[in-house]
Amino acid sequence: MDKQTLSFQAEVKQVLHLVTHSLYSNKEIFLRELISNASDACDKLRFEALNKPELFEDQPNLDVRVAFDPETKTITITDNGIGMSAEEAVAHLGTIAKSGTREFMAALQGDQKKDAQLIGQFGVGFYSGFIVADRITVESRRAGIAPEEGVRWSSEGSGEFDVEKITRPARGTSVILHLREGEEEFLSGWKLKSIIGKYSDHISLPILMQKEEWDAEAKKQVQRDEWTPVNKAAALWTRNKSEITREQYDEFYKQLSYDSEPPLAYTHNRVEGRSEYTQLLFIPAKAPFDLWNRDKRGGVKLYVKRVFIMDDAEALMPVYLRFVKGIIDSNDLPLNVSRELLQESRDVKAIREGSTKRVLSMLESLADSDEAPEREKYAKFWRDFGVVLKEGVGEDHANQERLAKLLRFASTQADEGVSFADYVGRMKDGQEAIYYITGDSLAAARSSPQLEIFRKKGIEVLLLTDRVDEWMLSHLYEFDGKPLQSVAKGAVDLGKLQDEAEKKQAEEAATTFKPVLERLKESLKDRAKDVRVTTRLVDSPACLVVEEGDMSGHLARLLKQAGQQAPAAKPILEVNAEHALVKRLEGNAHFDDLAQILFDQALLAEGGQLEDPAAYVRRVNTLLIG
Ligand code: ADP
Ligand code: MG
Repeated sequence: MDKQTLSFQAEVKQVLHLVTHSLYSNKEIFLRELISNASDACDKLRFEALNKPELFEDQPNLDVRVAFDPETKTITITDNGIGMSAEEAVAHLGTIAKSGTREFMAALQGDQKKDAQLIGQFGVGFYSGFIVADRITVESRRAGIAPEEGVRWSSEGSGEFDVEKITRPARGTSVILHLREGEEEFLSGWKLKSIIGKYSDHISLPILMQKEEWDAEAKKQVQRDEWTPVNKAAALWTRNKSEITREQYDEFYKQLSYDSEPPLAYTHNRVEGRSEYTQLLFIPAKAPFDLWNRDKRGGVKLYVKRVFIMDDAEALMPVYLRFVKGIIDSNDLPLNVSRELLQESRDVKAIREGSTKRVLSMLESLADSDEAPEREKYAKFWRDFGVVLKEGVGEDHANQERLAKLLRFASTQADEGVSFADYVGRMKDGQEAIYYITGDSLAAARSSPQLEIFRKKGIEVLLLTDRVDEWMLSHLYEFDGKPLQSVAKGAVDLGKLQDEAEKKQAEEAATTFKPVLERLKESLKDRAKDVRVTTRLVDSPACLVVEEGDMSGHLARLLKQAGQQAPAAKPILEVNAEHALVKRLEGNAHFDDLAQILFDQALLAEGGQLEDPAAYVRRVNTLLIG
């Protein structure tokens, strides 16, 4: 066959244009794509040789060699895989065999109807060489055919390509990139090795480069004719779990996360089914400094068929599990998948759901372990990451029940580590709800006047002091069929926990106290929605509560701190008719001052701020001098 000049298929021209223009910001991926093709070619040879061992031609050791030449400004990637015949070179490098070109183009151009599945059916990796090269020469000889049947394919990546027959004793393919002006940075052993380390370290095939040596006379690095592997050539996660030691997992984790401590826990699984992938996920032992930043990308790297695709693939993990580190290696996703396409892919959705469940199982097995050190690990995890996990209660409705079981709280009976299950196990006879109070700090929550009646009756109350708690509870209404009830919202209804005598007493107090209540309402009409007698107080004269469904004072304060204008709902002032101060109201000459003081004190007691502190001081002083 004499040298022929052929035209690229029309679609190829368009793809070439798009790939070289839209992927330029990520140009180093050309090496990943070409190494991936070399690796595929070796896989194909291995497969065909299963029935035809002679294809190995006495050269069964497969590898990829990456060379560069500063003189000719070329990079050459050589494999001894299956190779291509002249016909195959024309077909595979000149046309796009797979259907769906138009759709693919639309997707790359940012059409609304992006579909990662289409890219999956599509091979364009080879053309990424043209991002950095203005000419690519491919020399190849297919395994099993004569050396004289080799082919040289060459193109400048515009409209056409040349093919001619050559003699090539070596089986396999060399891809020679003639670098564009300005791409000389790639003519460096160090640079190429670092790209290989970044993207292809876990390719299971050895990637070899020539050894370099300092030549003192020439004052430069010179390459020796000795090839050494530059990748690890075996991805940890592809190996059998039983062959991997805890130390190896720890080491891998440290490299992956730049963490100096070993992980708290890990999970390693091969998932088969609709979507095939391997997951190796770690929970760090301590929180990173930027854990709070919800915009921070996740810590899970995406691989496709052992080829590194991207760091921080946030689509693989829900935001509330952003502390998880690890890798996902998919068998189904296309190598050229972008972040945008990941967001939409159904395979990715399946991976995310599967991985979320794995992480939750990992946490559950720590939390529910029979062994104390494991449970202690969970307690440590909770201290560092609990606040972030709480976000999941509101964000991940599918796993809400599992997440609720993993929550831990402080309560009036324990400083930390109380689960809903612990709480339910300690509920009093006749107690129907799980009681909680939110507060700005543990100390403030613990001394809330609203807790008094609960303390008197020995009923446990959960003390919630994290910023996300209020928000979380707006998504979680019950646990195990028991409603979650704020002790600072609505009227206190202890239901069966209150005996008849108490109820009667309260009703009587309300009646005799009515005239005072009316006056209080009048005095406080600008500040309180209502004033009523309560049974929830024992030692305190008054407290503030909000109506069921209204925003608590605690949440309103949080929002204000965050610079958001909260829709102000007036609270209800509840008074303890048994309290000496309240009893003193009737017929008091300073009724108005006393009323304001009661309200201000109730506000202070729940951690609120007075609008006019000076007025409060003046009133108290007037009474003190009295
Ligand atoms: P994909 O790898 O997804 O098929 P590419 O554009 O990367 O798409 O490659 C196109 C085709 O060219 C491959 O499917 C393969 O048939 C052929 N090819 C590319 N590189 C090699 C190689 N090193 N050895 C053999 N065939 C190759
Ligand atoms: Mg490819």
